[in-house]
Amino acid sequence: MRCPYCGDDDSRVTDSRDTEDGIRRRRECQRCGLRFSTSERVQTTALLVVKQDGRREEFHRDKVRIGVLSACTKRPVTAEDVDRLADAIERELGTLGRAEIPSAVIGQMVMERLRALDRVAYVRFASIYRNFQDVESFQKEVEELLQARPASPELQAQLSLPFNGEGTEGKRRGGRKAASIRGKRT
Ligand SMILES: [Zn+2]
Repeated sequence: MRCPYCGDDDSRVTDSRDTEDGIRRRRECQRCGLRFSTSERVQTTALLVVKQDGRREEFHRDKVRIGVLSACTKRPVTAEDVDRLADAIERELGTLGRAEIPSAVIGQMVMERLRALDRVAYVRFASIYRNFQDVESFQKEVEELLQARPASPELQAQLSLPFNGEGTEGKRRGGRKAASIRGKRT
């Protein structure tokens, strides 16, 4: 099994257990020493994800996992938390009993769970997921989030990131909104 971190294919199984729908194995890479887990499960019909442009691709739990993992960079979220989240999404999709599912639905499911897990990761995921195409609703989300709970300076710093990506023109326009968000705190 290829190591997701260094690509080496020499890994050792450290733990193996039955889960509800298959077998989960914990592995340790013999080259870089990092741990990862793999799961084997019975494949019935593949679930197809319908993307926004209408293209379809097979659902992979790992895509969910990797997306969430990158949103959780440097956050107090463990690999196990992320695994559990991806498992829950996969299970929930399974219970829907559908052959196809819009990617937006999966994104929404991830965001709901991530929101409960880590607020910063949630905002990051939301911003990546929405690809800044929908800045209005993203800002609304941020404002709701800040109203719900006073943000820490760290969260404030994270939240201000998306607004810095715009040009000088955008910065001036976006500056007012960013300022009003900050104003809520003081
Ligand atoms: Zn490795």
